[in-house]
Amino acid sequence: MIHTKWSDDFMGIAYRYFDLRMNIVPLLPHRKKALKMWQDVIHWWYDASIRVRFIEYPDQYRFVIGAESRRPDSNVSFYKILHKSPHYERFKTGYGDAAYLRLGEYSTKRLQDVKDSDVCNCGHPAGDHADDESTECLEDGCDCNEFVQTQVYMLRRKKTITDIVFLDYTDIEKDPLSWNCINSNPS
Ligand SMILES: [Zn+2]
Ligand SMILES: [Zn+2]
Repeated sequence: MIHTKWSDDFMGIAYRYFDLRMNIVPLLPHRKKALKMWQDVIHWWYDASIRVRFIEYPDQYRFVIGAESRRPDSNVSFYKILHKSPHYERFKTGYGDAAYLRLGEYSTKRLQDVKDSDVCNCGHPAGDHADDESTECLEDGCDCNEFVQTQVYMLRRKKTITDIVFLDYTDIEKDPLSWNCINSNPS
C-alpha cells in the first residue's frame, strides 16, 4: 500500500492554450513558491506516470494530480476543489489527447503599481480610473469600482500529461487515485 502525501496548497487552476496544446496551470501567489513546488516535487515525476483526474459534482469539481517519482520519499500528490468555469468547460471539450502541465504565478496589481496605459480587469485603461481612494472606473456605463489587474505568468518548464480522465463523483471506486484522494481528504 502506497502512502500518498496530499497537498491543496495552491490557489486554483488556469487553463491556457500555449505551445499547440492546452496547459493545466496550477497557480501560486509568488514565482518563488511555484519554482519550489516544481523543484521539490514535479521535476522528479516520470511524465508517462502522471495522472490527472477531474471528479465532477453538479457545480464543482475536484482536480487531482499524482505521479510516480524518482524521489518517492518526498513525493506529493495535489488536489483542489474548484467551481466549474467556462475555462474548465473549454479545457474539457478542447484538450484532445494530451495537455501540458506548467506552474503559474498569479499576480494582482492595484492602481499605484501600473502605468496609465495598463488595462484593468474591466477592460479599460488605468488612466480612465479615478486616482483617489475608490479608484473606480470613470468610463460611461462601466460598473467597475476598483482598479485591479490580474495576470498569470506561466513558468517555462513543462511536463506532458496523457492520462487525463473526467469522472462523476458517484463513479470513483474504480479509479485508485481518485479513491485515495477522496478517502484521504474528505471535504
Ligand atoms: Zn476597472
Ligand atoms: Zn471600466
